[in-house]
Amino acid sequence: MVTIRLHNSRTRVKEVFTPIDPDNVRVYVCGPTVYDRAHLGNARPVVVFDTLFRLLRHVYGAGHVTYVRNFTDVDDKINATALARKEAGAAGSLEELIAERTEETIRWYHDDMDALGALRPTHEPRATAYVGQMIAMIGALIEGGHAYAKEGHVLFRVRSFAEYGRLSGRSVDDMIAGARVEVAPFKEDPMDFVLWKPSDDSLPGWESPWGRGRPGWHIECSAMSLALLGASFDIHGGGIDLQFPHHENEVAQSCCAHPKAEFARVWMHNEMLQVEGKKMSKSLGNFFTVRDLLEKGVPGEVIRFVFLGTHYGRPMDWTAEKAAQAEATLRKWRGMVAGVAPSVPSDAVVAALADDLNTAGAIAELHGLAASGDLAGLKASAGLMGLLEDHMGGWAEAGVDLAPLAARLAALREAAMMSKDFAPVDAMKAALVAAGVEVRMSKAGVELLPGPGFDAGRLEGLS
Ligand SMILES: [Zn+2]
Repeated sequence: MVTIRLHNSRTRVKEVFTPIDPDNVRVYVCGPTVYDRAHLGNARPVVVFDTLFRLLRHVYGAGHVTYVRNFTDVDDKINATALARKEAGAAGSLEELIAERTEETIRWYHDDMDALGALRPTHEPRATAYVGQMIAMIGALIEGGHAYAKEGHVLFRVRSFAEYGRLSGRSVDDMIAGARVEVAPFKEDPMDFVLWKPSDDSLPGWESPWGRGRPGWHIECSAMSLALLGASFDIHGGGIDLQFPHHENEVAQSCCAHPKAEFARVWMHNEMLQVEGKKMSKSLGNFFTVRDLLEKGVPGEVIRFVFLGTHYGRPMDWTAEKAAQAEATLRKWRGMVAGVAPSVPSDAVVAALADDLNTAGAIAELHGLAASGDLAGLKASAGLMGLLEDHMGGWAEAGVDLAPLAARLAALREAAMMSKDFAPVDAMKAALVAAGVEVRMSKAGVELLPGPGFDAGRLEGLS
């Protein structure tokens, strides 16, 4: 059996991963709030944890891994977008407009993440389907002295959980000193956070022992992971931006509701994404969605390849140059493995992935397989990483066939041998190089390969 090592954010060391039950390895990852298209940064955890899912399936068997990623479909941002539509004259009740908005966004999300080659998780629970479980968990927390109801709100009593802050490495007093915490009259302590809040008639709400209301965000993940994975499970993942307060609050809720259980044994956090060295932001004009890139003609497989080029624990920089290089590499590899039946993933690729998802190291191994001519191994190993799979290759097939251009260049050269006028050959060669084509001319013939920065659009005048 392959030994997997993972960096556990909870203990801050890389540990040998030993599942609670190897017949059912259980993973929970926080999913999106469904009110808009996913931006590029949202896609990073999807690709990171999809790669983990694939590795676990490879090691423990495809039927022995349960991967849960939720949809947050109750949220004030969703309400706000639905309300804006209603005010703009859209037909239907607010509930209907909210449902329309979340359904549409979930469809978009599936389309975009499928395009990145991400497998669908085993379960994709929607928060609104688990409100009953959330109410039950909140009730248990009140009973145990960990939460209190006041003015239609229920709050978690942070001081009742001595380990609060351990996951993110902060003390409660430091948090109060450093954070902009909301001081509300219904809070016993400024750090206490909302489990339940009241809804007026203009907002979605559910009946509860504390009146009509809706759940806070954090309780969702505690209730859904309990329902689908149990009180103790193996791995909990998400972006580093969720570590505090979201994950800290999940730990507090789940551990206080089930003090004998472990909740998540291993915590994994992916670092954030930047664009061309800068933080992605609407004001800098470098904010874009996955769909924006796909529509610009950047294939999903290329996005995935660029993501995998950086270890998940490091900030990752999206650049146009990396995308062009990734595209050239994938195009070349796709040409090499066309019609090749995959064998089995190479031990070196599996070992790299098993070493805390060293995806950059695994890609280096793929280059080695390509260079050594082990094409069946290349196809199988890349497939384990969600690359070079047959259903993802449409973009490469739709690409330009360089063979007719190579034939034309060869004919020009032959003519030049006779006329001793090499200017037409040099002109065509220069145009090809300008389009990012690697030109190899030898006695044996002319070979054209798409190089880094290959731009098919610039070949139009040549064909
Ligand atoms: Zn969560």
